[in-house]
Amino acid sequence: MDEIECIVVGAGVIGLAAARALAQAGHQVVVVDRAATIGFETSSRNSEVIHSGIYYPQDSLKAKTCVAGRRRLYEYCREHGIGHRRLGKLIVAADEAELPALDRLAAAARANGVDDLERLSAAEAQRLEPELRCVAALYSPSTGIIDSHALMLAYQGEAEAAGAVVVLRTPVLAGEVVNDGFTIEIGGAEPGRVRCRWLVNAAGLYAPAFAAAIAGVPAATIPPAYFCRGVYFTLAGRSPFRHLVYPVPPAGGLGVHITLDLAGQARFGPDVEWIAGIDYSLDASRAAAFYAAVRRYWPGLRDGALQPGYAGIRPKISGPSEPAADFVVQGPQDHGVPGLVNLYGIESPALTASLALADEVVARLCHRCEPRPRAAL
Ligand SMILES: Cc1cc2nc3c(=O)[nH]c(=O)nc-3n(C[C@H](O)[C@H](O)[C@H](O)COP(=O)(O)OP(=O)(O)OC[C@H]3O[C@@H](n4cnc5c(N)ncnc54)[C@H](O)[C@@H]3O)c2cc1C
Repeated sequence: MDEIECIVVGAGVIGLAAARALAQAGHQVVVVDRAATIGFETSSRNSEVIHSGIYYPQDSLKAKTCVAGRRRLYEYCREHGIGHRRLGKLIVAADEAELPALDRLAAAARANGVDDLERLSAAEAQRLEPELRCVAALYSPSTGIIDSHALMLAYQGEAEAAGAVVVLRTPVLAGEVVNDGFTIEIGGAEPGRVRCRWLVNAAGLYAPAFAAAIAGVPAATIPPAYFCRGVYFTLAGRSPFRHLVYPVPPAGGLGVHITLDLAGQARFGPDVEWIAGIDYSLDASRAAAFYAAVRRYWPGLRDGALQPGYAGIRPKISGPSEPAADFVVQGPQDHGVPGLVNLYGIESPALTASLALADEVVARLCHRCEPRPRAAL
């Protein structure tokens, strides 16, 4: 049976970032994904926004990794020539009743160390975006957009340059905790079993299911999986906006917002729809609710201007009536299995936080244990 020091399951932005960090720390890493391309699932179905770190509870892993990850991501983009733009974002109160929510967001941002938010009057917001209607806004200059695929290619390239191997079209079917590691059963064109000492579960939406398929992982440590779809519509024609525009967030997401891609095309979304299983279909009739949501802050949105875009699914570990769960990066101290890291609930802002989350993975694995010399494997 082949032996590998570390297997990372999932070649999304998190698996690739973790593989890069582990390989650069001198470990032998193989990333395995069942899809034919990297970033096939959630990492290609998001808003591609570099978040500043406003929304998350103080001291949460989301807050800490978003703020730290955002700073590092801008630097990483500059150093590696990855397409990005620090466009800035407006969070708007559409009416007086939403003003307390703006105050709460400003306070949460300060608590998280986001110290560059500005409070704008309606007139000041309109000077930045003449088509916008609101009673007040928060301006976040450190929010931006990124080419997420270029980011993943850069992580993959650096991981491979440090010796990692990315294997696609290879589903990991099951596993077992054995003495000093794991045996892993893989499918695909060349099915078989491999042994590894470390296992990183970065399977995104499937992370709880994959953990449950590893015999020896305590079931009580595996959270439930909930799926929350968000669809996007794109704007036909030129966008009148130069900044990202977000409403005050409803439960479950950040609200139907306007983002721009690097080519300047505007898209709207994602909405919030709790679903029973993984289904990326987009019901075009949801556009009606989009028109209503967007016209609260952009009354000039024309009938017929929205075209169906795509859907993404938030990998939730808390249900619709529960408070939003934090990112969970479980290491041996949490579940008792040496060499295993499970990443659960890795939803937004994980693209932004990816470099910082990768460090969390390394810290869980390298905590109080030295890697075995490669020759001994
Ligand atoms: C609608 C939406 C909008 C978002 N917007 C933003 C944003 O603007 N900014 C931001 O910072 N974050 C955003 N996010 C969050 C971000 O996109 C995700 O958190 C991130 O992409 C998750 O990456 P991942 O690697 O954990 O998961 P994924 O990208 O889903 O990767 C998991 C991989 O595991 C593979 N896999 C699963 N099971 C197996 C198996 N058994 N064997 C082999 N392979 C397997 C899958 O094929 C997949 O490629 C958004 C998320 C959503 C849903």
